[in-house]
Amino acid sequence: MNNQGRPTRPVETAAWQTKTFTGNRGLDIEEPLLFEIGRPQTSGVDIDEAPDFADRLGAHARRGRIGLPGLSEPETLRHYVRLSRKNYAIDSGLYPLGSCTMKHNPRLNEKMARLPGFADVHPLQPVSTVQGALALVKHLSHALMTMTGMKAVAMTPKAGAHGELCGMMAIKAALMASGEGARKVVLAPESAHGTNPATAALIGMTVRPVAAGAGGMVSAQAVRAALGPDVAAIMLTNPNTCGLFEREIVEIAEAVHEAGAYFYCDGANFNAIVGKAKPGDLGVDAMHINLHKTFSTPHGGGGPGAGPVVLSERLAAFAPVPYVVEREGKLDLVEHAEGQELGRMSAFHGQMGMFVRALSFILSHGADGLRQASEDAVLAANYVRACLIDLMSAPFGDRPCMHEALFDDSWLKDTGVTTLDFAKAMIDEGYHPMTMYFPLVVHGAMLIEPTESESKASLDLFIMTLRDLAMSVQRGEVERFTGAPRLAPRRRLDETRAARAPVLRWTGAADRT
Ligand SMILES: *Cc1c(COP(=O)(O)O)cnc(C)c1O
Repeated sequence: MNNQGRPTRPVETAAWQTKTFTGNRGLDIEEPLLFEIGRPQTSGVDIDEAPDFADRLGAHARRGRIGLPGLSEPETLRHYVRLSRKNYAIDSGLYPLGSCTMKHNPRLNEKMARLPGFADVHPLQPVSTVQGALALVKHLSHALMTMTGMKAVAMTPKAGAHGELCGMMAIKAALMASGEGARKVVLAPESAHGTNPATAALIGMTVRPVAAGAGGMVSAQAVRAALGPDVAAIMLTNPNTCGLFEREIVEIAEAVHEAGAYFYCDGANFNAIVGKAKPGDLGVDAMHINLHKTFSTPHGGGGPGAGPVVLSERLAAFAPVPYVVEREGKLDLVEHAEGQELGRMSAFHGQMGMFVRALSFILSHGADGLRQASEDAVLAANYVRACLIDLMSAPFGDRPCMHEALFDDSWLKDTGVTTLDFAKAMIDEGYHPMTMYFPLVVHGAMLIEPTESESKASLDLFIMTLRDLAMSVQRGEVERFTGAPRLAPRRRLDETRAARAPVLRWTGAADRT
């Protein structure tokens, strides 16, 4: 080095400066697959050799060993603990995934769900022994109907998408009952979540898209133009996937009803309007509620979830079984209903653990607290929006948003950085990326949903990080983005190949090329 600190000869980088011997990074341990570290002859438990016995399996007897990998107890424990540490979770940091509503799961809910009276009930117990559990289901049903202004609720669907299926099946059953089974078209705006058209297709309907208006909202005029005697229903999300309240929703509902069709509302964004607007007042006939988005139950990798569906008076008779009723002061479950078209959505009675958590959230907040949570979620999203709008472009101008702030990629034009690159650079800064490229109607969309549960300090650090990244784009520091993530356990992955040619079966080291 010279006295200005510049090197005076080429610096040789020793291998240890860029790589570690173990592949570990600090205390972030590189973890191979169980099949790579396990040994078939090892077991975590001592089991006696099986005594001699006469095998009566005949031709069904296994010919060779299965070769399941075995580990000692501490090795097994470490394997799964290390894997769990590779998960990013709302418990480890801000999770700005728009549309998914990753809000804090209060520990009080967990405590309630672990009460033995709730945790240990079995779905096949006699009804007389689970009166408390049924009372809880009834109480939650009542709360959901009150908040939405709807007449009935089906508690058994297991997620939002399953709730959509339930609501649309109820609509189909109602149409069949009134001799209008020929209505086979479902209207869905282009900004809809993919589950909406998928649900329509699953029940044998065809989807007629409704173009989104210039302001990111669906106009009553566009809906009227798409309506006809063949239309069964419209599936509309409100607030919509652009984070905007559909201003013409009442007019849309009236037009849909006049045309003899039903109004299915995708209620995934209900968390923005709880205590402020009731879907029943807006003319909705059916709407699912994602308990994991609005009422803070955990999002578990695909389950166990709960997506109750509230129904209007017109659809109440078409709700699936089972449901809770009161008879002579005792609660009972209706498992079969005469003339009921829909049948049941799932085995048993719904996702008890999620019901307890959601009711715990509702009761601990109270009506005023729930309204405040909606207001805070909207305030947080607008704060993020206002603090980034000078650097990042938003597709729908300067209008305030609901609970999520939507940006597009026009500010990245000609910079050599894409939405994906920007999201990967967030990982290096310790943030899970926002929702990318959704909704599809916005080019290079970045959908940020901070939720009500982040503090101002946490939002400020997030905003400052995004501002730092955005200014880095402006300075032309392209490699910070195209080379990201640099600091994650894995670098940039070939996501297209992972999606198109997934390796789902371990057949040995050859798979690792
Ligand atoms: C999350 C979501 C769904 C699907 O809900 P799941 O509970 O994930 O099945 C449907 N529509 C919208 C707008 C969503 O955000």
